[in-house]
Amino acid sequence: MTGIYIHVPFCARKCPYCDFYSCSYTLKSAEEYKNAVIRNIEVLPNIDADTVYFGGGTPSLIPSDFIAEILDALDKRLNLSKPEITIEVNPCTVTADKLKAYKRAGLNRLSFGVQSGNNEELEFLGRKHTFEKAAETIEQAVDARFENISCDLMIGVKGQTTEKLEQSISQITALPVTHISLYILKIEENTPFGRNNTEKLLPDDDQTAQLYLCSVRMLENAGFKQYEISNFSREGYRSRHNLKYWNCEEYIGIGPSAHSYYNGRRYYTPESLESFCSDPVQQKVYEEYQAGTDEEKIMLGLRLTDGICPDDYPAFKQKILKKAENYCAHGLGVFKNGILRLTPEGFLVSNSIISDII
Ligand code: SF4
Repeated sequence: MTGIYIHVPFCARKCPYCDFYSCSYTLKSAEEYKNAVIRNIEVLPNIDADTVYFGGGTPSLIPSDFIAEILDALDKRLNLSKPEITIEVNPCTVTADKLKAYKRAGLNRLSFGVQSGNNEELEFLGRKHTFEKAAETIEQAVDARFENISCDLMIGVKGQTTEKLEQSISQITALPVTHISLYILKIEENTPFGRNNTEKLLPDDDQTAQLYLCSVRMLENAGFKQYEISNFSREGYRSRHNLKYWNCEEYIGIGPSAHSYYNGRRYYTPESLESFCSDPVQQKVYEEYQAGTDEEKIMLGLRLTDGICPDDYPAFKQKILKKAENYCAHGLGVFKNGILRLTPEGFLVSNSIISDII
């Protein structure tokens, strides 16, 4: 089954750490964008799909009617089978009515950009909401009968100590949420944080590693089991859509800068709302690296706590087994029943481990 990703490129304002492609919002440009998305959906092959994900940008910025129209077009064109349908939500851009409209449109999973339980950290990150506002919006989502709710949490933020983080995690895990994505703040060159040398104000690598390990421990204790480097869920609430990325399953991205993996090709569309809206359908794409190789499957599989089975990769098997001994001896991995899994300590250095293996 294929996943569908819809990239909604609008943001109310740019967060100082973000280098994702996004543009300022007007109703007129959102309408042109929605019409272009529908034109692109109408030429999709008539495939089976079981996940739809509205990501961004800030998908919750555009009217809920537009989201409903896009879902309607998908429903007409594809064979949607018990789909998980997610939208990323910024707490400041939804109301109780909008959340109810999402529910009526068929959305069944919300991903809230909460980021922190600490308002000083939220201010530093340039977010407009407070934790209290995020909590109130999540309660409204529950009232709208959403039960599959994810939150983003950011670590490695200026002034963040383990004590502050513990407080933040206690507040977030006390909310009626089923899934948490944990991100380490990364400073990208071409952002206000990058230009202002914000990196020197942040916890150093060792402190950030402690914050990550502390988060894993606290989330597990609160009933959120880690299933990927950055993702934790209550039983039965792993993100079906995001698992497609790590399991090397197919997905089709629609929208400016959306990535796809379909028919053995990885490709993405240009970062241009203008060309996306003016072209009858998106023609121009950029090819990415060769897809579906053993190297790629090992790289993605080691992100998951399910790990990899070296038998599945004959060309790499001996190398993996030999290296695994060393990782396990240093607490970075566990090799059991023929499966190699990285530990949280291993996830912290997973880039080095993966390049060591492949
Ligand atoms: S972090 Fe999210 S809301 Fe902020 S600018 Fe980036 S995409 Fe937009």
